[in-house]
Amino acid sequence: MRTRASAIAVDQSGSKNAENRKDQSSLGFPTFSGSIQDLKDGTATFLHKFAQMDTVKEVGICLIRVPGAELEILEFRKAILKDGVMAIFEIEQNALGSIKITNKIGALRSAGQKNRRLAKDFQTDNQEQHWSDSELKNLFNDFGTSTEQFYMIGPTWMLPEYEPLLDSGSLKEAMATDIPGVTSGYLYISPVPDKRTYTRLHKEDCDFASVNLVLAGAPKVWLSIEPAHNTRLKLQLRRHFPELRNKKCSNTVSHLNSVIPTGLLDKWKINYRIQVCRPGELVFTMPGTYHQIVNLGRNVAESINLMFPGMNPPSIHYLYCNEKRCNTAEAIDGSYFVREGDTEQGSLHGTKRQIVEGEDRNPKKHKR
Ligand SMILES: [Zn+2]
Repeated sequence: MRTRASAIAVDQSGSKNAENRKDQSSLGFPTFSGSIQDLKDGTATFLHKFAQMDTVKEVGICLIRVPGAELEILEFRKAILKDGVMAIFEIEQNALGSIKITNKIGALRSAGQKNRRLAKDFQTDNQEQHWSDSELKNLFNDFGTSTEQFYMIGPTWMLPEYEPLLDSGSLKEAMATDIPGVTSGYLYISPVPDKRTYTRLHKEDCDFASVNLVLAGAPKVWLSIEPAHNTRLKLQLRRHFPELRNKKCSNTVSHLNSVIPTGLLDKWKINYRIQVCRPGELVFTMPGTYHQIVNLGRNVAESINLMFPGMNPPSIHYLYCNEKRCNTAEAIDGSYFVREGDTEQGSLHGTKRQIVEGEDRNPKKHKR
């Protein structure tokens, strides 16, 4: 059997693989290499090795190149979307210069065969473009004039011809039910050429780790906060966004639904990293790492949450987001986890996987 430890080629800035990265800047993430087989053999087990590295712990995030994981454009053209829903979100710039991704203002469901093809191809734009540090920073300062963002987000079976690569590890067993985007992969499709889409500043629910693999199209540009600056970040956000003061859960920052400009982060003296992620590359986020993303054009990515081997669901100190604490119930709470004592043979209530406190409900996670 192949030893996967040896498959991890470390290529920190300066070493062989990093040399051909034109955009490897001082702001960049630690960068490594892996293979498709590594992901197939067990995504969580593979990423756990990186999670134990000091460089990754320090910045809370890393980039891993997975040669061959990108979709051939030709292959992608053939793909037919199944029950895809394109959500249209409104974007509002506020006085602080952040943008708020407000409620969904519309959704288009692909219905007829004619409309089930993805519009044209996802011709990969900007692949060779080099960004300087200041240009990278400006991607998070200048949100343009667009007031809408179009994002197609859904289970991987949206592309029936696509075989998912990512696995959530022991998270599957920990959760009482499958939650697409958490325990099974989700596809994130930015479908409109020349339109940027954004993912708000957030960390994963329940402090799960996450992985996001760009499959085709324009790069994703990631910004992550150094974990040592999390407390300062939360303090500053509470100071400047009064609406956060009524939120009492462990994931209050997510309630902002906003992309925070680098100008503000600099002013607040918060350390962050910015990394361009192209097709065939993935970003791995450690538990509790805050991040926000801009998609530079139309692209496709697969993403999932995960728990490492031996990791437990959040401790009693984790404050789940719920009606009582935050006046909303969008996020995962304790009711989604398998209760201790439940077994494959049956729980106290005689079902294989009993939900702890909640009744059966639609566990669909609201993501942006
Ligand atoms: Zn909350």
